[in-house]
Amino acid sequence: MHAPKPSNFEIGGETIAPGTEADIGLPITTMATGYSSQLAVRVLHGAKPGPTVFVSGAIHGDEIMGTAIIQRIANQLSAEELSGTLMLVPVANIFGFLSHTRYLPDRRDLNRSFPGNASGSLAGQVANVFFSEVVSRASLGIDIHTAAVHRYNLPQIRIAAGNKKLVELAMAFGAPVIIESPLRDGSLRALAAKEGVEMLLMETGEALRFDRFSIETGVAGVSRVLAHLGMIEADDGLAEVGVPARSNKTQWVRSPRGGVTHRMRKSGDAVKKGDLLAAVAGLFGEEPLEILSPTDGIIIGHATLPVVHQGDALFHIAHVDHPERVGARIESLADAIYTSEPEGFAETLLDEDEVL
Ligand SMILES: [Zn+2]
Repeated sequence: MHAPKPSNFEIGGETIAPGTEADIGLPITTMATGYSSQLAVRVLHGAKPGPTVFVSGAIHGDEIMGTAIIQRIANQLSAEELSGTLMLVPVANIFGFLSHTRYLPDRRDLNRSFPGNASGSLAGQVANVFFSEVVSRASLGIDIHTAAVHRYNLPQIRIAAGNKKLVELAMAFGAPVIIESPLRDGSLRALAAKEGVEMLLMETGEALRFDRFSIETGVAGVSRVLAHLGMIEADDGLAEVGVPARSNKTQWVRSPRGGVTHRMRKSGDAVKKGDLLAAVAGLFGEEPLEILSPTDGIIIGHATLPVVHQGDALFHIAHVDHPERVGARIESLADAIYTSEPEGFAETLLDEDEVL
């Protein structure tokens, strides 16, 4: 018996034959320069049939970790060996990406602009093209975000609460922590859920930065999900990373005063209620206030900038079972990555003024 032969994949007026890949520029709108702008999508249309999946980055234009993760995924996979179709969108918010900002030039947040509209605002037009040409054709999407500027997030997967299929896929991804939470109106995930597209949201690292822990966790996670779906042949590697911790309750710890912080703990650390997280003092170090953990848990995000106003969020803590076990596992995952040989090539070191 022969497996059914996949048909051609049509996108943006182009036809992609099974077992081949193509880079497509989907027209979005006309810019202030009078020239048109395009959304870049690489399509790997597998030689064998299977699900259609998309991976996207930089919906918030400064959250560029997904761009690095997608580059590595694109490098590793070939359409000839793929079952199903993979759509890679390294930068969804092309306008914010250009200006290194979260938003679009019309000051809107792309992730609050779905479903969008072809004759709507700039954000609405991007949302419309991205959703109608990419998201709605897939059965699963993996959307990659980072913390805001001057903040860092532990690699984590966020999913809609109460969806067994998503829990299974998030487990397959194997990031250290899975957070289940309700969806936000106007977000890509909320609309995707309505349209029957399953979505995993990865949060990892810091805006405008790359880091190895984030990138390698992301690349391995996306590959494991594709293997779990039968799209690629790969060992799921879950034995090495262990079972992710799950949480449906997180809380923020804010600065009790303005000033300069001295941080003792970071993302990935297990904490107990009453543990010292940081101290914040005035400009001369006077009147320091200790910031204690309000709960047992695992730190899933922290501020990297020591200059704070009263009320600024300094730590994000997830309630998990056995935080110390989770913390030890995260430490060994990070150690394994940082002690391994980096991929890529060595370069001669340039002086700062040559670079600038
Ligand atoms: Zn984001």
